[in-house]
Amino acid sequence: MRTPLIVGNWKMHKTISEARLLARAIRDGAADVSHCQIVLAPPFTALAAVRPEIEGTPLLLAAQNVYWEPNGAFTGEVSVSMLQDAGCALVIVGHSERRQHFGETGETVNRKIRALLESPLQPIVCVGETLAQRESGDYFEIVAQQLRESLAGLTAQELLRIILAYEPVWAIGTGRTASPETAQEMHEAVRNAVSRHFDEGTARGIRILYGGSVKPENIGGLMNGPDIDGALVGGASLEAASFLSIIHYNSR
Ligand code: PEP
Repeated sequence: MRTPLIVGNWKMHKTISEARLLARAIRDGAADVSHCQIVLAPPFTALAAVRPEIEGTPLLLAAQNVYWEPNGAFTGEVSVSMLQDAGCALVIVGHSERRQHFGETGETVNRKIRALLESPLQPIVCVGETLAQRESGDYFEIVAQQLRESLAGLTAQELLRIILAYEPVWAIGTGRTASPETAQEMHEAVRNAVSRHFDEGTARGIRILYGGSVKPENIGGLMNGPDIDGALVGGASLEAASFLSIIHYNSR
């Protein structure tokens, strides 16, 4: 049984006081929720403010990025142990915005995953094709290649500590969501790839989230996909009302 996971990726939004208020509103609005796990990923500067708001609740704290070295002269970077110290339970790696704007590659994603697996923190590993790649028809192979690079050298046991997120780049922040059928088709392909490269038990156990313009209006349809285990939500996680409506997808 894979517990659904709904992750709010706040990207580069929210001051400390705004983050505190948003976390509080989500915590209070989600007090009755037991059907899914909720994760908040504020910017680094707000981690310490969000932590006490959700401590002692089932809500978990995540970071949006990490560097693989344990410490040293790496100006602007944050290590795994720093994030653990800040109260994070998970870290998003390989988000398409990091691949697009900050030179993230399959190899750097792999190094980040390996560093995280040395700690109790869980990686949320993002993959997904661009619009040009989708239109070229090669999208299954593109995503399979991203998975091969990101997960290179990992054991099945390590893989079970990872959460995958399929995020078609053409759907992120564009308002253009993948249809439930399109998303399910790729999730099934990803699960089959995990089964081929690892084993069937691992494929059945791993959680695969969908991300890309998830909104209160489309979450229900997406969650009907048998291989869709939750959502990575950007824009709609910045307001408590819309994020809570997504979280309550099962009562709509
Ligand atoms: C994301 O941040 O990963 C994302 C999918 O953003 P949005 O929901 O705004 O498309």
